[in-house]
Amino acid sequence: MKIGILAVQGDFEAHRKTIERLGAETAFVKTAPDLETLDALVLPGGESTTQLQFLNDEGLFAPIVERGGKTLPIFGTCAGAILLAREVKNPPQASLGLVDMTMVRNAYGPQIESCVTQAVTTLSDRPVEMVFIRAPVIERVGPAVEVLARRDDKPILVRQGRILAATFHPELTGDVTIHSFFLKLVRDVR
Ligand code: GLN
Repeated sequence: MKIGILAVQGDFEAHRKTIERLGAETAFVKTAPDLETLDALVLPGGESTTQLQFLNDEGLFAPIVERGGKTLPIFGTCAGAILLAREVKNPPQASLGLVDMTMVRNAYGPQIESCVTQAVTTLSDRPVEMVFIRAPVIERVGPAVEVLARRDDKPILVRQGRILAATFHPELTGDVTIHSFFLKLVRDVR
C-alpha cells in the first residue's frame, strides 16, 4: 500500500513519519504523474492558498477531482481539509469540492489561534489529542458527510465515503488513531 503525500509546503514530513510508523509505504507528490501509482493521497496542513496555487500550476487539481474518493481515498488535515471542501469562506477561495461542507478559514480568531486539546471521536474509546493551528471551522456539512468528532458543537473530523478531513493536525501528536482509521479506509475497499 503506497500513500502519497502532497509535498509542496506545510507539514508533509510529519505525515510521512506517522504513516511509516503504521507500516505503510509513502511517496511525496509534486507532479501529476506522481499520482498514478498511489493507493491514497494525504493533503497536509500549511497554507491552503499556496497549496491551491501549486495544484493548479502543476496540473494536479483536475486529476485529484476526478479520482478523489473513487480510485483515490484522500485525507486532508487543516489546510488540506480546506482544499477538500465544496465551499470556502473568509476569504472565498476555489477548492476541490470533494466533501460537501463549508469551511470558514482562520475562524478561531487571534486570541485562540492555536491550541492543544483533547476530544472524543467515534473512532475509539479514548479521547484523541488534537493540535489546532490557525484552524478553519466547518460551518455546514451536507447529508453525505458523517461527523466523527466535534469541538464546541462544530464538526472537526468528518468523512464522506473514502475521504477524511480534519480541521486539526493528528500528524503532530503521537496519537495514531486517525491515521490508522484512514489506512483502514484505504485497505478495506481496495
Ligand atoms: N490557516 C491556514 C489556511 O487557511 C490553515 C492552517 C493550517 O493548516 N494549520 O490555509
